[in-house]
Amino acid sequence: MLSNIRVVLVGTSHPGNIGSTARAMKTMGLSTLYLAEPKVQPDGHSVALAAGASDILKHAVIVDSVAEAIADCSLVIATSARSRTLDWPMLEPREAGEKLVASALDGPVAIVFGRENNGLSNEELQKCNYHVSIPANPEYTSLNLAQAVQIICYEARVAHLEHEKREFEKGRPADYVEEKIEYPFAKERENFFGHLESTLLGTGFIVKQHPGQVMTKLRRLFSRARLERQEMNILRGMLTSIDKKMAPKDDT
Ligand code: SAH
Repeated sequence: MLSNIRVVLVGTSHPGNIGSTARAMKTMGLSTLYLAEPKVQPDGHSVALAAGASDILKHAVIVDSVAEAIADCSLVIATSARSRTLDWPMLEPREAGEKLVASALDGPVAIVFGRENNGLSNEELQKCNYHVSIPANPEYTSLNLAQAVQIICYEARVAHLEHEKREFEKGRPADYVEEKIEYPFAKERENFFGHLESTLLGTGFIVKQHPGQVMTKLRRLFSRARLERQEMNILRGMLTSIDKKMAPKDDT
């Protein structure tokens, strides 16, 4: 289950942080590391700081963007040292651990960490279902990247141990899945938002020259609702029906 929880580092610039992240993950039983557009490759310094966790570095998957790293994930949580920059659905670290573990029973999920100097961009943050901020000293909120990874991975471990205990008490195998709600993958969500935008441009609701904040607000609305796959398919069907009505009639 913990191997389905993907740690995604975005635009990391210090090889040491990549190594320390691997160590933080391995101590908590996580193993899947993605490096999205890293500024540096793992090197000897990374290996030194990874200590016994260089296997995680060796198997790290390097991709070009956050979108690519999370495409097949049904739950994506972004971390941010600044709370409520975007007023997105927020989780406490503990809740984030619980949600990651519950969803990891069904397939890959991701927790995304930003650049050392300026975190995640608004565009990247908007691709995620939830945001989590570690409640640090308000006068000094920014943790070292790998230390933030450690705290979130610890919460995932605590949630995992709790889950195992509960299932053991019920006499069930640890990978027993209680409810089977299917959530769309990040890629499907992006396709939906693309479709929504193009239809709204078609109807004239969004004006290309002055798009304003409509798509950001709609993304936030649908993130708050946490649409199930079936619900998203209904909405896509509705959009397609509008597209069809708008399509120029073929008289031939
Ligand atoms: N100056 C940056 C801080 C980047 S710290 C900013 O304003 O966003 C590098 C990364 O560590 C962050 O992008 C985030 O992933 C993680 N991080 C650091 N402090 C955190 C905190 N208090 N809560 C959650 N994540 C944190």
